[in-house]
Amino acid sequence: MTTNSKIAISFIRYLDENGRPVSSLPDFAKKYDELLELYRLMTLVRKFDAKVVSMQRTGQMGTFASSLGQEAVSVGIGRALKQTDLFFPYYRDQGVLVQRNVKLLEVMQFWGGDERGSHFIGNKEDFPIAIPIATQLVHAVGAAYAVKLRKQNRAVLSTCGDGGTSEGDFYTALNGAGTWNLPLVFVINNNQWAISVSRKIQTKAKTLAQKGIAAGIDCLQVDGNDVIAVKEVVGEALDKARDGGGPTLIEALSYRLCDHTTADDAGRYVDKEDLDKAWQTEPVKRLKSYLLSKGRLSPEQEQELEKSNQAEVNQAVEEYLSLTPQPPESIFDYQYENLPEALLEQKEELELFLQPDNRN
Ligand SMILES: [Mg+2]
Repeated sequence: MTTNSKIAISFIRYLDENGRPVSSLPDFAKKYDELLELYRLMTLVRKFDAKVVSMQRTGQMGTFASSLGQEAVSVGIGRALKQTDLFFPYYRDQGVLVQRNVKLLEVMQFWGGDERGSHFIGNKEDFPIAIPIATQLVHAVGAAYAVKLRKQNRAVLSTCGDGGTSEGDFYTALNGAGTWNLPLVFVINNNQWAISVSRKIQTKAKTLAQKGIAAGIDCLQVDGNDVIAVKEVVGEALDKARDGGGPTLIEALSYRLCDHTTADDAGRYVDKEDLDKAWQTEPVKRLKSYLLSKGRLSPEQEQELEKSNQAEVNQAVEEYLSLTPQPPESIFDYQYENLPEALLEQKEELELFLQPDNRN
């Protein structure tokens, strides 16, 4: 017997759970300004998420997906992408979006059911947030194919959750990316839960990264609670993609410290001990511990940061609450350039209904 293939999945981490370096840090992480910016972004996203959840609880927001505990995944990705790259988000990517000229206000509009939130006024190239599971990965393949055809020097990145890796679209996307050697990076935010389905019973595969092997594409795991590792690994994969080196599948290991969305109650199925343990390894605390150990984060800086984050979130909330709601008939305005006959009829019916005389 001969062995034709062996599985080896690397796992990359720079800071351990207590914020202590386990190896020499990459060059960018030797600049404290950069680390403080990563810290600022993670704490901003955490504050934003908490506020939007509380708004949902008080009837001021639609269903919302917090990224509590996974801030390093999205912030690291956002910091690694160049503005000229293309991004295809899933629904827990606010930490990327805020770095791509997408306003917090627009993210709120999206979750508030206002389609104008998907316009991304300052960003005309990235795709809007995808709610259907893993569909965005296939869209990213199409875009990456176009980038390659046009010989553009840019990479495409798309994200999904651990549950997304069980979808047909996930495998289709991987196969296309590999077959055409596309300038594409997939990042799985493995937060250990697909709503209430634990990662343990999601698949028999030992890692989610290894799903890339069948597609012939490079794949690895990164500590998704270590923002330095996420930025470094994603950055390298993006460089390789732009240089014609083909696609990469990255599995970022994190833990969802919140409900799946505000429509869920994780208290019904998450083991409290697991959750308590996960709080010990969360990403904000980890980077903070490192910065404190280097004397690079003073109580005054922390207070300043807290204040500026709060002001930024407050500003978005204020703008959101003062928006003029869209008229009901606007629900027909965003899916089609030209409305199909059946929807045209429904729109006319709604307009008729909305006339003052017909509403009693
Ligand atoms: Mg998940």
